[in-house]
Formats: sequence, C-alpha cells, structure tokens
Amino acid sequence: MYTTEQQRKFVEQSRQLLEVPTATDSAGAENQAAQLRQILIYHEWRYSVKNDPVISDFEYDHLYKKLEALEAAFPLLIVPDSPTQRVSNDLSGYGASVTHLVPMLSLANSYNAEDLKDFDTSIRKLLNVDEDYPIAYCVEPKYDGGSLALVYENDLLVRGATRGNGSEGEDISANVKSMRSIPVRAAFSKTNIHKVELRGEAVIRKDRFEEMNKERAKAGQQLFANPRNTATGGLRTKDPKETAVRNIEAFVYQLGYAVDQDGNDKMGQFESHDAGIELLGNLGFKIPTKERKVCKTIKEVSDFCAKWEREREDYEYEIDGMVIKVNDLVLQERCGYTSHHPRWAIAYKFKAKQATSKLVNVDFQIGKIGAITPVAKIEPVQLAGVTVSSISLHNQDFITERDIKIGDTVLVERAGDVIPYIVKAMDELRDGSETDIQFPENCPSCATPLIRLEEEAAWRCPNYHCEAQLVQRMIHHVSKDAMDIDGFGRSYVERFHKLGWLKSIADVYSLDYDEIADLEGFGDRSATNLRMAVEKAKKQPLHRFLYSLSIHHLGRKVSKLLAAEIKHAMDLKDWTEEQFTDIKDVGPVVAKNVTAFFRDEENISLIRQLEENGVNVQQTEKDIPQVADANAPLIGKTILFTGSLNINRKEAQQMAEKAGAKNVSGVSSKLNILVAGEKAGSKLKKAQALGTVEVWTEEEFLERISG
Ligand SMILES: [Zn+2]
Repeated sequence: MYTTEQQRKFVEQSRQLLEVPTATDSAGAENQAAQLRQILIYHEWRYSVKNDPVISDFEYDHLYKKLEALEAAFPLLIVPDSPTQRVSNDLSGYGASVTHLVPMLSLANSYNAEDLKDFDTSIRKLLNVDEDYPIAYCVEPKYDGGSLALVYENDLLVRGATRGNGSEGEDISANVKSMRSIPVRAAFSKTNIHKVELRGEAVIRKDRFEEMNKERAKAGQQLFANPRNTATGGLRTKDPKETAVRNIEAFVYQLGYAVDQDGNDKMGQFESHDAGIELLGNLGFKIPTKERKVCKTIKEVSDFCAKWEREREDYEYEIDGMVIKVNDLVLQERCGYTSHHPRWAIAYKFKAKQATSKLVNVDFQIGKIGAITPVAKIEPVQLAGVTVSSISLHNQDFITERDIKIGDTVLVERAGDVIPYIVKAMDELRDGSETDIQFPENCPSCATPLIRLEEEAAWRCPNYHCEAQLVQRMIHHVSKDAMDIDGFGRSYVERFHKLGWLKSIADVYSLDYDEIADLEGFGDRSATNLRMAVEKAKKQPLHRFLYSLSIHHLGRKVSKLLAAEIKHAMDLKDWTEEQFTDIKDVGPVVAKNVTAFFRDEENISLIRQLEENGVNVQQTEKDIPQVADANAPLIGKTILFTGSLNINRKEAQQMAEKAGAKNVSGVSSKLNILVAGEKAGSKLKKAQALGTVEVWTEEEFLERISG
C-alpha cells in the first residue's frame, strides 16, 4: 500500500503540519488541505487497518481539526473522499432494501479432518481429476461479526449494505463510510475495474469491546452483550457517530463482482482468490494476512484449521471457524454452485460454544451497592468444556428486549473469557406453559421498595443497611483485590454473619478467635491463621482500603489515583466534586459518588471505627506512584493545568505524565509547574503569590515536553 519512503514522508509531514500555522490564503490552504487529506488517510490506515498507529490520537485529532478548519474557511476544498466527510448526517437511503450485484450465499459446514477430506474428494470428483492432481486451497478465518457488501464505482465507495437474506440487504452506506478501516477511495481503476462489489465482515476487537463496556459501566449505561451483537447492532444503528460504529473494523475477504467501463467482466484477470485479496490489501483494505494461508494439500488445510482452533482465544477478534476455498478461480467456476452455496468452498466450524437448555427459574441477587441482578437457573449444559447452570440476565431491559420467559428453551453461548450469556429465547419451541419473569418490586432481602435511577439499567435496593448488601460488601472487603485477607472468603463471611459476629465491616477486625477455634471444622490452628491474615490486612495501603469500601463506581484504578493525593482517608471528607474531577481519569459519576459517601455521617463513623480497630487509613509508601523513566523531561515535577487550554485537559495531563510529571489538584508549596491557559484565575494568583511555582503558557508546555 505505502512504500517505506512514502511512510517516512507522511510522518515527517505530519510533524511539520502540527507545527505550522493553518494557512489563510487560498493557495496555501489548497496545498495544506491536499497534504492533510493524504496524511490523514495514511494514519487511518496505520490505525485501523494495520492496528499500528505511528502518531498519538491527540496528534491525529489535531491534524483532523486543521483540515476541518481549512475546509470551513474554504468550502471549495471539500472533496467527497476527504476524511472529514466520513461522518455525515446524510441518512438518505438508509435502511432501504438493496439488491446485491452477486448473491451472498452461505457455506456448507464441516466439523473435522474427516469432513475436510470428503470435501477434497468431492472437489476432485467435480473436476474429474485424480488425487495426485494439485489443488490449492486458500484458508482464512470465519469472522464472527456482521457480513457486509461494499460497492465501489469510479474508485469511490458508493454503497455499503448488510447481507440480509443473501440476495437483498439493507443500505447502511452512512455507517460504512464512517468506519476508518474502509477506504472511501480505492484505486481499482489502475486494474481497469470500473465497478466492483466486495465481501467483508464487520468486527470489533475483543480488547476494544472490553474498553467500551468499561466506559459504559462508568457512565452507568447498559453493557453490550458480546462483540458480535455489538458489531451487527453498530452496522444498523441510525447514528453513524455512535461509539460502536467508530470501533467497528471491517475485514474484506472477497471480490464478488468486477467489471470495466463497458460492463465486461474483469474477474478473469485474477488467477486466484488469494491474488484478489492481495490486490485489496494493496488498495488499503483490511485483509486477513497472518490469518490466511494457501495450502497445497487438504492435510495442510486441516492442520492450519486445528492450529487456529487451538489459538482462537488468543486472537484479537472473535472467530467461530475457518473458511476453505479452492484458490484457482477457473477451477472455482468449474465446480459451480448448488442453489444454496458454492461447491468450491466450505466452512470449518470450531467446537460448539453454543448449546440450548431449559430456563428453570430466576433468582434475584443483591449486589454490594444494592443492584438487583436477575440470574437464570438453567438445566446444566456443557459449553466448550465447562458446565454452566446459572447465567446472569443483567437487568429488566435485557429480559424485556429478548422476551425471555421461565420454561423457555434458551440458546446459551460462552465465548473465550467472556462469561456465558443467553443469546435468545427460542420462541418457536414454546408450548404455552411458559410464564413471564416477575421482577420484584421490593428488595428480596429487606423488603424496601426498589428504585431505578434515571440513567441506570439496574433496579436498586436503596437501604444501606440491607443485610444482603452488607454481606456482599463484607465479601468484597476481604477479597483478594481489596484487603486481601488470606482464607477469609465468601463462606466465612456468610457463616460469621449468620452467627451474628459480623454486623459491620469493622467487625472483621474484632472477631473472637477463641470462639472461632471452637467452631466445627476450625480448631486452634486455623483460627490462628485467620487471625494472622486479619492482622496483616490491617497494614494494607490506603488505595486498597478505599477500594474495599464498596463505593459505587470506585474501582481499583481511581482508588489508586485518590490514595496518591491524600494523607488520610478522612481528607476526602472536605473534597468537592470538582477536586475529584481535576484528577486525570476521574469522571463526574465517581466524583459524585465518592463525595456523597464521605458526606454521610454513618460512613465517617465506620471509617473511624475501622481505624480504632487498627486498620491503616493513611497514605503509605505503596500509595505513591513511581515514575519509571529517569530521563523524561519533567521527571519528578508536579504540575497543574488551569484556565482554558486549546488542548483537552485530560490529554494534557496524560502528556505531562508521560513526560514524567505528576498531576496534582491544587496550588501549594509542593507545586512546581502551573500551566496557565486563558482566563486563569485564583490558581494563577495563588501561584504567583507563592513565588516558587514556575508559570508556563500552553505553548511552553508543549515545547518542554517535546524535549
Ligand atoms: Zn434490601
């Protein structure tokens, strides 16, 4: 796609364009806009196609905004394939039914090496050749996402559609255009192709999927069920700016149709399927590379399939099998088609991760902050080697959306590390005996009426003293990620709670070990071990303590950020929400929750009691973050940003941290650098009054960190 020389040039031009002012004369603007378009398309390719960006997101955005500014000042510079034109509000034709140029057929399935041998035999029969005749097969992953058909005309992307029923799909051009891994312009005309239809699959990387869900959890939004549903949902959303769309990548794996200006077939110029994919890769599409192999024998095919089945969990994307195609296009034609599928291709399906089972009952579990989670009890099934008998139904919306009833036969799936989930209820198997799932109106533990906050998916028990919540909070408190009390797990918490020994978290530290030694199954030795584990936990660093308190949305990461800022847990008592959000990576939701927690007298007295019981609530050495690179330009400095900056504040903080500085939230004698933007107010005055703080402009800051 790009030569090393070109890439070097683009990277160099990127650096230059980040420095120079945006042109104001039309000749200069035209020149800059042309450069920016080329460069941005290159960076889109590095990021989305190669998964290997060479500039930061921040720099990319900066270049993008520059092009936007030029186009706003000189609208004549806007061209349809400009990166700025990817996301549009033009939804004309959206959702309309469109006919594929060539039908998208499904594939026959195979499940083992024996099936693959049979496939090879049938191909040889169709071609009337013996078993020594060389037939090469191209093998590539079967992506578990949403199928796509893309049409290019005159080198421009003119249509994107879903697979639909195979002959007709839905027009989703606006969404497809906003996906950065799909080129808006591709030089098909170089090979004399005027119009072409490509096949591909829209997928979301597993790690991006996890990130998206983390973001959604933070924002109190409903979580996505799995990468596949998120990708297929994203394809059909009516908002091309939606996160899901932005995170979708499309692998393109087949040329379906190609003609020249006069409508003559141009597929004949490719000697093989593999050569067609190579061309697509050279035109800037995302194609399977390390995942694709041309095999000379069917044995090589089944070995390659087996290797991928073993390694599928480590792969960045969800795949549910491999696809095997006769590589030679002339031989493909000679094999032909049945009415359902091509005879020259077959899918190799990996072992089932799906199974059906009967939904027997639904339990309602109460979380440590009161969220009610419906949990389906199903007849036990084997899924990829694990027995599954209960599955979270997440919340009421999930049940309503999927129309799940007690007594239903449900399709259950378990993919990789993702916990098992219910794909759907099979309503065609209903016999009328199924009953609706009754969501409780009152807490199953304390009978308090449940509430549902506006922006949240979960119903909650608002009673902080709810016994069920208390038990969950104690289980969390002693857990490995929190206070890490060795051996003190769920079963001890539940047992001691039943005995009336644990009425509050503070009781964990005032247990009577003589009584424990007398319990059945204990004895002196295990009581002593437990006592030692509890004693050890009293010295845990502050960040673990903060995390152990079960404050809504306060995770381990933010706990660490907070512990780095304070000397004593009680310091947070006087913090404002703004002080929290001033810390990089601390969002408004968690800020609100932590503030509310420390405004509550009962929580304060709980912390006091814990401290009285000997638990450390002060900052320890382990709470102070270590900076790694001793040569970083701002190593060991503390820094604070104030006033309005051109760059995003959080990004500025990230850049400072990368340069070795530590972000702090207030002006004090410990502050080294204050970066003051426009309209800097009291913080600037205070820093000037102190006389020990270096005050920098934004430009100075950018200069210093670039070395
Ligand atoms: Zn309750």
